[in-house]
Formats: sequence, C-alpha cells, structure tokens
Amino acid sequence: MRIVAVNERTIPLSAASRNASISFDAMTASAIAIVTDASDGGKPLTGIGFDSVGRYGHGALLRERFIPRLLAADPGDYADGDGGIDPEKVWAVAMRNEKPGGHGERSGAIGLIDAAAFDLAAKRKGLPLWAYLAERYQRPAVNVIDIYASGGHYRTDDDIGHLRADIHKAITRGHRRFKIKIGGIALGEDIRRIEAVLSMLEDGMTLAVDGNGTFSRDTAFAYAEALSGLPLAWIEEPVHPLDYDLHRDMAERFPSPIATGENLFSADDARNLLRYGGLRADRDILQFDISLSYGIVEYRRILDIMSDHGWSRAQCAPHAGHLLAFNVVAGFGLGCAETAIDENGLFGKLTSAVPVGDGRATLSDRAGAGLETSPAFSEIFSGVLQ
Ligand code: MG
Repeated sequence: MRIVAVNERTIPLSAASRNASISFDAMTASAIAIVTDASDGGKPLTGIGFDSVGRYGHGALLRERFIPRLLAADPGDYADGDGGIDPEKVWAVAMRNEKPGGHGERSGAIGLIDAAAFDLAAKRKGLPLWAYLAERYQRPAVNVIDIYASGGHYRTDDDIGHLRADIHKAITRGHRRFKIKIGGIALGEDIRRIEAVLSMLEDGMTLAVDGNGTFSRDTAFAYAEALSGLPLAWIEEPVHPLDYDLHRDMAERFPSPIATGENLFSADDARNLLRYGGLRADRDILQFDISLSYGIVEYRRILDIMSDHGWSRAQCAPHAGHLLAFNVVAGFGLGCAETAIDENGLFGKLTSAVPVGDGRATLSDRAGAGLETSPAFSEIFSGVLQ
C-alpha cells in the first residue's frame, strides 16, 4: 500500500473564551488525511486525524517537512508485511533526520500523522481504534471508559449563574466528574465559584480545578493552602509546567493531588517530570496530551517510563484529545478521558454523540477512531478528504 497524498487544513476555532493563561479567539487546529492507493468500498482507503486544542494548527511544519518526507518514502519502509501500513513505521519515516530534544511544535505535527496512520490501520482491519490498540498491544478490549467534563471558564456577566447552569447541564448529560478554572479572578472569588459547584454535587461526584500554569510560587501556595480544606479531586497546573522544582516543593508541602503534564510534549519531558517533579504515584495525575506529544507511538514510551518510575496507568488522564484520547484511554486502560462541558464548540461537538451515563462513555464500534460519527465531521474534514 502506498501513501499517495497527505492533506492538511487549518481551521479557526473562533472560541471566544479565556482561561487564566490565554484567550482562544485566534486559536486554530489542523485536520489531516492520509490517502492511500488501497480501496475502501470504492473510495481510497484514508486515515484521518484532528488536532488537540491549545497549540494552534500545524500546517506549515507538515507541508514544509513531514508530508514531503512521507510522500518521498519507499512504501516498503512503512509496510506492515500484510499489505497495509504500519503506524509505527510511518512515524519512524516522518521522524527521519530529526535531532533529539528541542521538541518545539513538531511533536504536534507528528501527532497528527500518527493519529491518521492509526485511524487508517484500524480501518483496514475493520476494527474500532480502541479494539485495534488492545489487540495490537495485547490489552483487554474495553469500550467503556471513565470521563470527566471540563469547562468553568470565566464569564463577564452572571459568572456564577452561568457556571451553575453549565454544571447542571453536564449532570443531566450523565457526567459525574467536573473541572473548572481557577486563577482568573481573586482567590476569594474563586472559592465562591468552587463552593457554588460543590453545593450542586451528589454523592460520588467530584470536582477538580485548573490554574493553567500561571501562579507564582506565593500565589500557588496561597491557593493550595486555601483549597486544602475542600474536597477537590485535584489541583491542575498550579505552577509553570516546566518548573519541576516548584512542583516538588508543592508536593512536599500540600497533600492535595496535583495534576500536570498537558504542556510537556515528549517522553523526554515526561521522564524529567517524574525524575525531578516530586510527584506522588499514589495520588497525582499525569495529563500528557497524546496528539500534541508525537501521538500514540510516543505515548507508549511515556507509559513505559511511568511504569519504570512505579506509576500506574490509572493515574493517566490525558489532556483534551477528543475521540483519539477516548480510544487510547480504552485501548491502553488509562484512568479517564477529558471532554468539554460545552458541546457547542468544535471540540465539544466531536464527542457530543458519544453516549454518556454514570460518568462513563461508551465508544462506537465503527472502524477507526470514529471521527465520522461526530456532528463536527463535515465541518472539520470538508476539503481534506478526496
Ligand atoms: Mg488544563
């Protein structure tokens, strides 16, 4: 099988929302399709992928470097020995002549190629991606996963009223785990927001908070102190994602679980976090974003490093990642996946057709990652498919 084209389209997300760190007004994301010369019901067999959120599209790097490299490769270099393509070999071809370290934005570009290659390989086998991963990497085949609903951004008008309405809607949708932002207003006001949500939760429901890596040492300690009496599932990115020493300091001083990792984009960075960040395998949560961290091939390396450091996969809650992350959480037996409370935005729409009940999502049996089942499919992939 030969890869005959790789198409990319950069899509504006146009989401007028903000967290403590950035505004999303000008945010973009990339859609990608790997087209082959094999047939799939009269059309070319094609694998597709869509970015995770938060790092803009990756079109320039793909067009300048990675797509030409794939198209120039000998098909034998990525053949799976069974007439198809091997995503791990596609990954290796795309990463030829790339130096180690200094990961920059290329990890997100490679993550897109990885996602489309896995989607394609699963489709060729007629398997949903979660089942393909379980079979290939010898894991139990599971299609029901724990998920949590993420949102709670700040509003200028009736902020707490909107926040309560969002949580109510998410509870009605079937969610039991929630996460809201902190750090965009004064600490006392954030506590009022947190208490407003906690007062709505039923037995067994949980709330986490997300500081988006913006707090200084003093502010982080003030938040950790003030929040330590509240029953929170975790405090996410209380400090800068690359300040491992400060993570260690926080973990030594405060018992609350810390979640971090969504802004580390490689197995190298994950290793450094686990070596030097002082995180606790019995409670802390690791949120490496699969797509932004070179994809599934690299995520398996991260899981190996975690295992070497005594961490269970149950502590993994990958950042964002929509249906790709859902499939990987199922296929690799991870702790839980993130989804958006707001199902009107593009990323929320991607998972809005997935059945949810009692805090769990049931993944589709459709071959591949299931992007075609999403109400956002044509909006994202028109002009990308052939
Ligand atoms: Mg976060």
